[in-house]
Amino acid sequence: MRRKLVAGNWKMHGLRAQLGEVEAIAAAAAANPGVDATLCVPFTLISAAVGVAGALPIGAQDVHEADQGAHTGCISAPMLVEAGATLTIVGHSERRADQHETSHDAWAKAAAARRHGLQVILCCGETEAERDAGRAERIVQSQIEKSLPDGASPEWLTLAYEPRWAIGTGRTPTLDEIASIHAIARAKLRMMVGDAALGIRILYGGSVIGTNAAAILAVDNVDGALVGGASLTAEKFVPIIEAATSVSR
Ligand code: PEP
Repeated sequence: MRRKLVAGNWKMHGLRAQLGEVEAIAAAAAANPGVDATLCVPFTLISAAVGVAGALPIGAQDVHEADQGAHTGCISAPMLVEAGATLTIVGHSERRADQHETSHDAWAKAAAARRHGLQVILCCGETEAERDAGRAERIVQSQIEKSLPDGASPEWLTLAYEPRWAIGTGRTPTLDEIASIHAIARAKLRMMVGDAALGIRILYGGSVIGTNAAAILAVDNVDGALVGGASLTAEKFVPIIEAATSVSR
């Protein structure tokens, strides 16, 4: 039985003034012990967020593949660990689009995170043009094939299916479309890592909000949600954590 995971991605939002939201979300997470929750905040907020988050794991949104070196502006896994992060997102579609990151980059970043004991949320997902061309399944399979780190296991790896066209747009695939891609992702994982694939959580991400969360989280092979905009405040995020609890009963 895979426990649901509700992960917030604050993107480039969050100053110390928002630490009260972290505290409130942490309290709600503690009140929903049947599910897991986490917040991935900007690098600059990790340490302060850890200070108020109690048992709520705090993560990053990216990591460099090298441990150190001449990489201006980048942050390594040992730095994240020192700041108190316990996980990181890799391969988010905004980084693929804005920083031209590839699936190979995601693979290398995931490996670096793993070397230093960080959990990894590895993102994949098609563009709107790829979906319209009937290529969504092939794209997701190919991204998983190219980015799944060696030794992938449920202890440290979570996959997130995030159709790019659903991120921050208020649009979501149908429940059947979500079920179909998640089944394909599970099958691909199974081909690559065997039975370990049965324990690896696959999150759905893209315009999840309080009112659609329960339906999405009840879909087969949807083991949680990666949430952007609706994770920024406790008022919007806590109902998603509660929806995860309600579908886990
Ligand atoms: C995301 O950033 O991963 C995301 C899913 O964003 P949103 O929930 O705002 O669509």
